[in-house]
Amino acid sequence: MEEMTDKVHNHDRVRMLVQYISCLFLQEGKQLVRVNQDTRLTYRVVDVRTPASQAIFRLRSEINYKFIDFLRSEGFVGINTPKLMGGSSEGGAAVFRLDYKGKPACLAQSPQLHKQMSICGDFMRVYEIGPVFRAEDSYTHRHLCEFTGLDAEMVIREHYSEVMDVVDKLFVALFYHLTKNCKEELEAVSRQFPLPPLKYSEVTLRLTFEEGVQMLKEAGIEVDPFGDLNTKTEKKLGALVREKYDTDFYMLHRYPLAIRPFYTMPCYDDPNYSNSFDVFLRGEEIISGGQRIHDPVLLEERAKACGIDVDSISSYLDSFKYGAWRHGGFGVGLDRVVMLFCNLDNIRKATIFTRDPKRLAP
Ligand code: ATP
Repeated sequence: MEEMTDKVHNHDRVRMLVQYISCLFLQEGKQLVRVNQDTRLTYRVVDVRTPASQAIFRLRSEINYKFIDFLRSEGFVGINTPKLMGGSSEGGAAVFRLDYKGKPACLAQSPQLHKQMSICGDFMRVYEIGPVFRAEDSYTHRHLCEFTGLDAEMVIREHYSEVMDVVDKLFVALFYHLTKNCKEELEAVSRQFPLPPLKYSEVTLRLTFEEGVQMLKEAGIEVDPFGDLNTKTEKKLGALVREKYDTDFYMLHRYPLAIRPFYTMPCYDDPNYSNSFDVFLRGEEIISGGQRIHDPVLLEERAKACGIDVDSISSYLDSFKYGAWRHGGFGVGLDRVVMLFCNLDNIRKATIFTRDPKRLAP
């Protein structure tokens, strides 16, 4: 019993010491100790004891909560789709392949195929929060090999703007909730990191991809009008939008078809473009979405044109042959939302235990 009490006391002493050292990280705005990111991640259980980290993960929890709360209030049903997939998920190089009892399999790159299949199964509005796996070798401040996806899919009546309306209302409600109810957390984050207040409006700005390209052109930046924006041009456009429209949160839609996934619906008036959108927070992408192809013939045609092995997704393709709703949806990267909402310089600060191309522990 005495031994046990000693252990508890020792544990308390170590904890107090670590907390004291953590407080030295920042004292009245002065940086007293500098610890590199990698060391922080290795000793993560100690690192997250700082007031700023505690606040970041409480904000993350609130974002999780508000996502569910809002979508439930809008009639979305929570689903859980498999993360072990036969074939190669959505294809491409970013797939973690594995052996599934002697059969080739992989980890899901998103819940995309199954959330669409759930719509085919007459769940008119679905959402899922789950792990997303990407094997790409991206050594950047904003890419992980495993991150948390907040996904939604819904039947649409006429236009993909109905999906953008949901994103708009969801994020305006989320920002309002965080600003109103998480003052202490935001204050704690701002004591360690610069945190300018987020600028957003009641109705979110929507620009077409072409308008975005034109704004960049007028600022002297030439980009391929049918190519994707890279991180640098994305950030530049974010700065231009902030200057012109006074907002840190906006949507870009009508992307060139060639740079979107095979299941994206082409625009009816010009098949060079697609009924799709991305959403940006403080100049970086946090959401990708759009209308999906519900016609099985066109879907198979587009899959083939994009080099997908159609046999490996036959059960997905077949789902559309029994009658399918016109539908669309979106995928949010939770870790990115936390990073950008808190104005952090690295996604690893917004993720409790990091999985990137170099890190598989703790
Ligand atoms: P990016 O162009 O930034 O690599 P993406 O276009 O590949 O992103 P999607 O596949 O459309 O992204 O995924 C939807 C969302 O998931 C993104 O908007 C982003 O928030 C998040 N996301 C995508 N890839 C990653 C990653 N490797 N690590 C963390 N979050 C990611």
